[in-house]
Amino acid sequence: MTETDQQDAKTILKTYFGYDEFRPNQEKAIRQLESGRDVFVLMPTGGGKSLCYQIPALMNKGTAVVVSPLIALMKDQVDALTAAGVEAAFLNSSMDIPAQQQVLSRLKSGELKLLYVAPERFKDQRSTLMLTLREIDISLFAVDEAHCISHWGHDFRPDYLELASLREWFPGTPVIALTASADKTTRNDIINKLNLDKPEVLISSFNRSNIRYEVRPSGNEMDELSAYLDRNKADAGIIYTLRRSSTEELAAELSEMGYQALPYHAGLSREERARTQDLFLRDEVRIIVATIAFGMGIDKSNVRFVVHMNLPKNIESYYQETGRAGRDGLPSTALLFLDYGDLSTLRYFATIEDNEDQTRIMLKKLNQMVEFCEIKTCRRQYLMNYFGEPHPDSCGNCDVCLTKYVEYDYTTEAQKALSAIARLKQNYGAEVITLLLRGSKSRKIQPWMRELPTYRAGQDQSTEFWKEIIQELAAQGYIRREGEPHAVFKLNQESMKLLKGEKAFTVHRPAETKEPKASQKRPESDQLLFNKLREARKKLADGMNVPPFVILSDASLHDLATRFPQSKQDLHAVHGFGDKKVERYGKVFLDVIVPYCRKKGIKPAVPKSKPTGSSFRSATSKKKKGSTGGSMNETFQLFRNGKSVADIAEERGLAASTIEGHIAGCVNRGLLELRDLVSDEKIKRIKLELERNDSGFLREIRDALGGDCSYAEIRYVREAVRSERV
Ligand code: ADP
Ligand code: ZN
Repeated sequence: MTETDQQDAKTILKTYFGYDEFRPNQEKAIRQLESGRDVFVLMPTGGGKSLCYQIPALMNKGTAVVVSPLIALMKDQVDALTAAGVEAAFLNSSMDIPAQQQVLSRLKSGELKLLYVAPERFKDQRSTLMLTLREIDISLFAVDEAHCISHWGHDFRPDYLELASLREWFPGTPVIALTASADKTTRNDIINKLNLDKPEVLISSFNRSNIRYEVRPSGNEMDELSAYLDRNKADAGIIYTLRRSSTEELAAELSEMGYQALPYHAGLSREERARTQDLFLRDEVRIIVATIAFGMGIDKSNVRFVVHMNLPKNIESYYQETGRAGRDGLPSTALLFLDYGDLSTLRYFATIEDNEDQTRIMLKKLNQMVEFCEIKTCRRQYLMNYFGEPHPDSCGNCDVCLTKYVEYDYTTEAQKALSAIARLKQNYGAEVITLLLRGSKSRKIQPWMRELPTYRAGQDQSTEFWKEIIQELAAQGYIRREGEPHAVFKLNQESMKLLKGEKAFTVHRPAETKEPKASQKRPESDQLLFNKLREARKKLADGMNVPPFVILSDASLHDLATRFPQSKQDLHAVHGFGDKKVERYGKVFLDVIVPYCRKKGIKPAVPKSKPTGSSFRSATSKKKKGSTGGSMNETFQLFRNGKSVADIAEERGLAASTIEGHIAGCVNRGLLELRDLVSDEKIKRIKLELERNDSGFLREIRDALGGDCSYAEIRYVREAVRSERV
């Protein structure tokens, strides 16, 4: 791209889309396409993939052809482009013949800058569309949701295979493939199947820093949910459940409690689903209670929360579903209620008949999902590491980072629980163990149990307390859960050590909640004005028969309600107001803002358009600032100076396991040599066991190794394996 081209890209960004700055990798993608090169873009949901091809489409002669799998998404994209003053259209099977012909004639006349088509359109090389495409000027091909071409991806669509011949039929026209979900195998597969020619591969950070991750034990979820909904009255969100029936029940329950909610699942009729989706897109219903079937076809940017009432089946699904929150870059919440009872159903789903390998992989992924819920370290770090991306050990925006934990010594209590398990002959689950300890008169406590010395031994503590202790014992590997759904607890070598007093049992419990950073709090806009602007946007959108977010994002409304522009001139400085939007819709919003300010005596604060979308920073720009985990660095320095884990833990007032986590992080990044930490013999054995038994549960690996390798040693080796350093 030459100097003037760059100008052009930036100018287009401002005049059509109303943004001041590119997000990471957008500019690179544009520049490469301009030079005629193929491009592969991997960006998280909401990362801004569309602009990567929409801007080159506007910079060049001819039409850009965008392949997209979902009719609803095509329509929203075209509506949004049209609202911004771009000539765009789509072609799909839902249109009648005259409508299709009209689009074809616009295509022939060369007026379309972008044409969205479904992949199956490429099947018949002699169709009118294909013949037309070969006659006209095509600036580029964009293949959206490109993972659909790969068997390895999670959403293979055979129609996508038709795209393999693009290269052959349109030699010389650059192709850009975009996806939000592709591991290395899928990535290479996409590049091969599309015959991309030495593409520029652009991979953005997958971190969605505006999403706050929270995991809570289930039990009080209805109270906690309604407290959340009350605190955030205007917010829209998606609640995922595991079963169709529970979507209906929960939606009904929420409606009864006074929250607008509708169910959505694959068992509803097509019309009903479309209607529900539409009401949600149009901000007319606030909450959708859905099975995972919901979400693929929407890119509503102002989804403020995603709740999981059940455990997702793997980290990939969890990340994709939570990723539907906060596409507009504003602070959003991802809340998960952990219920171990879900495990049996999920294990059942994960078991694929006659396919042991696949089953093993699915179960491993499920275990990693549980691990994510159980960790006491930064959840974002876990997620990022899962996707192979380094991340500092504290994000300041997940429940773990925002909670101050205090370490409690519960060795005596743990011993009581363990001896209860032993006395119950390792044949009972948490409920009976708790009842026994509390000295309950319940019928579940049989007469012989009342004779046991542990009966009533834990009367001084609550039922919840004992349940938590049992859960923690299992999470830390001191007991083993066996059999679902009515799990019983078994003792192991670790339990013996605790019982003999050779080890201490500690639990981290939350002491207080810290305040999130300013950037992760809601923008402090004038709420009353914001609501009025929302209404104006809704009216405008209804008049045009499009969803409100297509006209302006919530981020733009907040900007309006913070800076109070008084004229069209002022509006140009507001986030998301391109020239066309100022012209077309400016008045509608000014008519709300100007009288409001006059009445309240508010002075405008217009100048200096603030770059929003700042929550999408690239992995590299972060690295440059040298913030690769201040806390980890400190541990690293102390460790290198010869201090032991115990010394460092004491000096820093952190748990030993946290320090070990830091050291594992250093191993992952190559800062520390694995061989300096673990003997060669153990490395070999642990590595073998990790390969053989890749359950993801440290305790199982530890048990299998015969108990002479510490958790720390296993963690170090695991990090080295993960980062391919051993
Ligand atoms: P994706 O397709 O990657 O999920 P989109 O292309 O839909 O993401 O973009 C998500 C949101 O971010 C949209 O509202 C879009 O207008 C906005 N956006 C994209 N690029 C920028 C940018 N450079 N500055 C500000 N907002 C942006
Ligand atoms: Zn965190």
